[in-house]
Amino acid sequence: MTLFAPLPRQENLVKLAEQLAGDVLRPRADEVDRTAEFPRANFDELAKAGLFGMRIPAKWGGLGADVQTAVMVIERLARACASTAMCFKMHSEATEPIWRLANPEQVEAFVKPIAAGKLLVTSAISEAGTGSHTWVMQSHATRNGDKYDLTEVHKGWVTSSGHADLYFTPVLHDKGAGTGNYTAFVIEKAATQWTIDAPWNGLGMRANASSPMTFKGSVKASRNRLGDECAWQTRVFPAFMPFSMITFAAVFLGIAEGACEEAMAHVTGRKYGDTGSPLAKLDGIQRYLGEMRLSIDRTRAFVMAVARQMDDEGAADPRHLIQCVCAADETALEVARAAMNIGGGKSYAGANSLGRYLRDAQAGSVMAPTDDVVKLRVGRLMLGLPQFG
Ligand SMILES: Cc1cc2nc3c(=O)[nH]c(=O)nc-3n(C[C@H](O)[C@H](O)[C@H](O)COP(=O)(O)OP(=O)(O)OC[C@H]3O[C@@H](n4cnc5c(N)ncnc54)[C@H](O)[C@@H]3O)c2cc1C
Repeated sequence: MTLFAPLPRQENLVKLAEQLAGDVLRPRADEVDRTAEFPRANFDELAKAGLFGMRIPAKWGGLGADVQTAVMVIERLARACASTAMCFKMHSEATEPIWRLANPEQVEAFVKPIAAGKLLVTSAISEAGTGSHTWVMQSHATRNGDKYDLTEVHKGWVTSSGHADLYFTPVLHDKGAGTGNYTAFVIEKAATQWTIDAPWNGLGMRANASSPMTFKGSVKASRNRLGDECAWQTRVFPAFMPFSMITFAAVFLGIAEGACEEAMAHVTGRKYGDTGSPLAKLDGIQRYLGEMRLSIDRTRAFVMAVARQMDDEGAADPRHLIQCVCAADETALEVARAAMNIGGGKSYAGANSLGRYLRDAQAGSVMAPTDDVVKLRVGRLMLGLPQFG
């Protein structure tokens, strides 16, 4: 019996994710990394399997998964292909506030079609100017009767840019209205003018299409605004942030586990010509593997404890949520670096996928909340100081 095994009610979805990861994502992972092509075919399969509506309640056609199951699903996908898992994580995190806050019109226009696998969603939050300080946004929309004009909406890194149908986008509600005065919109690709402002050429997560985008035109108040005007801080962010954080942790935990699996395959398969003995027979290598396992299990215990608290109590401490992200991406980087060490020159030269795991893991420390900002915020909390600014 393993500590981290899915419960009976979680088993079907986790098995489905494992099957999709093994049969669909893994065989294509190196190729989509090499070509940096958005993995559309993977998303067709995820949609067909019902996963676009993973958390959406059954009454709207979704699977109604709890947080722990969602974490396990995303983690299993990330073991195979981090690019796909990150795009799916962005879909899932952006869908979360939409189904939670949708008005009746938005349930019909967005929630039900997402659950039916017809709409891919993403988050367009970060901006080039304010970067990792995502609590400050400069893009703005101006109220114009029952519409809002998107006069200057520039988002810096939009995962699935151009491929997603809906963009969960907070902006300043009016220029000069003051920092923090944000309103969130669901921007529809089909009903808005948009451009991709630069190609994506990431070190890792290469198939993510995380390009800068500009949105123009206008959106409708009743159809596209999520929650009330200027409700980002009070209603939208609380519906978005916890699930966003825990699923970031899921992706990086999956990268760590995937790198460990790849390293295991390498050390058992690589045999010395003179002795015929595998790398795995060397005690130094065995110790490396033990360290990887300890590191992953330690982080998994933390992440799953926070996910369980979200399910059982409906909320988790925001400090634990951001710490989870940092713990998981540090574990991913640590494990991927160790895996590259024991993978030797063969792995460095591309004999297996370990280089991909290392490059994908590196994204964690620079994606908001970045490791630096998490540590700074936690330290300030410990000292009773304001977290931001
Ligand atoms: C693969 C990938 C996908 C992404 N996808 C999305 C997406 O879908 N949607 C979205 O909204 N955004 C996305 N982002 C953007 C991401 O969340 C960050 O906003 C972005 O990476 C910040 O980059 P920057 O160069 O502006 O960082 P900067 O703000 O310039 O920071 C540079 C470095 O300085 C550090 N730093 C900043 N402040 C401090 C401080 N006070 N003390 C110490 N160090 C500090 C940071 O930790 C960072 O390491 C994505 C990014 C990547 C890499």
